[in-house]
Amino acid sequence: MSGVNGASSSDHHGTGFAQVAPPNSTGVKVIIVGAGFAGLGCAVESKRKGHDVLILEKFKELKALGDIISFGNNAGRIFERWGLHDKFWAVSSHVKTLMIHNAKGELLVEQPNPDPLFGAYAYNAHRGELHTMLFEYAQSLGVEIRLGQDVSEYWETETEAGVISNGERVAGDVVVGADGVRSTARTLVLGYEDKPKSSGYAVYRAWFDCAEQGVDKDPLTSFICQGKDLFYGWIGPDVHFLAHSSRDGKKLANVITHKDDADIAESWSFPGKMEDCLKIVEGWDPRCAALLSKAPSLVDWKLVYRDPMPTWISPGARLALIGDAAHPFLPTSQQGASQALEDGVALAVVLQLAGKKNVPTAVRAWEKMRYQRVRRAQLLGESVRDMWHKAKPEDKGQAVALPRPEWLLGHDAEKHAYEVYDSVAKEILEKGYERPTLPVAVPPVGA
Ligand SMILES: Cc1cc2nc3c(=O)[nH]c(=O)nc-3n(C[C@H](O)[C@H](O)[C@H](O)COP(=O)(O)OP(=O)(O)OC[C@H]3O[C@@H](n4cnc5c(N)ncnc54)[C@H](O)[C@@H]3O)c2cc1C
Repeated sequence: MSGVNGASSSDHHGTGFAQVAPPNSTGVKVIIVGAGFAGLGCAVESKRKGHDVLILEKFKELKALGDIISFGNNAGRIFERWGLHDKFWAVSSHVKTLMIHNAKGELLVEQPNPDPLFGAYAYNAHRGELHTMLFEYAQSLGVEIRLGQDVSEYWETETEAGVISNGERVAGDVVVGADGVRSTARTLVLGYEDKPKSSGYAVYRAWFDCAEQGVDKDPLTSFICQGKDLFYGWIGPDVHFLAHSSRDGKKLANVITHKDDADIAESWSFPGKMEDCLKIVEGWDPRCAALLSKAPSLVDWKLVYRDPMPTWISPGARLALIGDAAHPFLPTSQQGASQALEDGVALAVVLQLAGKKNVPTAVRAWEKMRYQRVRRAQLLGESVRDMWHKAKPEDKGQAVALPRPEWLLGHDAEKHAYEVYDSVAKEILEKGYERPTLPVAVPPVGA
């Protein structure tokens, strides 16, 4: 099987530009800070577009970290185009139905989970596994990835941009700050010192092997590991708990979001206490405590919030922030990683279209074409959380179903960038650049 659209191609999008250009054919040198999904995605697409790419990454060695991560169909179509479908699909969960219950365990909605949807697959899998595959794919394309690099300064001139990494000056045409939710690029490039704020919520998360933890032996939990992947959700006032099995029901991911005003920095490894976690579901459907208590350990991840930044790019438009560095997401959006990927892909396309002499126009056009879309996707995540946490007893069916809007999941970031670049760039050149504005209204869930 090779995805819905066949193997990756070198089709044009009717623009006269090759989707896969000869190596180093544009002469654009892209320096990327961070080898998360944003940085790797930007690197892969940049390589495909004929740019010269260098990634500078802080970690010293690649480790398969994290637990469950979601890539929507909008990201899936990009991975498939890169020829990664078979590998990604093999480790992804294949859920047919989303089963959402109230705290008493009454089924509120049994929502079909069509996959593919809007012509592409979604991938829900272990973050570390997908990350390792993407990392190795980038290397196989010849992307240079330097590990153990700590980028401490960013600079730009009229003709160049660069960083200081481990004390060494590295120069290129454009620098992409893809250094994640605790980005130093935010401060160094844009001057924002905004500390993350508590969103008022936190998540206990865990990923483990069902057989090792006896999930299959307990009559309250064995339903989730019966040889197929299942997605069960429970919602109550200010809480939602998602239990998601994968690998034919052999692995289980538990994610429970609850009220928490503690003020700590974001972390993926802050240990959580099981007794605190279980208190949240006291009096709930007993399957909840049974599933949660099977986890050998918990990560206590405080969900922080940041006000949207008025811009993601530097004054000279040769430094751009992408992914979590520019716009952190709530997990209920299920779009943080997908939007990070879209950012990098769109940026690579506009740099190809603009060429080496017009990098600042490309970067400004990129911000303009991405900004409102990303904000809408962020707001949708907030709407879903509120829909679940404030559900009324009579809410059932569509009133609590996970929205899957076509504007979000049917989007093709590469195609879109090819389609709109000329008109966006023309407007910038004719009228000057104005920072993008935020969308005025929160889209209703399901819009
Ligand atoms: C270890 C880890 C585990 C995660 N686990 C999950 C999970 O289980 N589920 C989930 O939904 N999301 C998880 N995330 C977050 C998720 O990957 C991101 O929200 C999303 O993929 C967007 O990615 P990003 O590339 O923008 O940021 P990130 O994935 O955070 O990547 C940023 C990269 O930049 C590097 N970096 C930071 N500072 C510097 C510097 N000064 N110089 C050079 N490099 C630097 C970091 O080491 C990191 O590799 C995790 C992130 C990390 C880093």
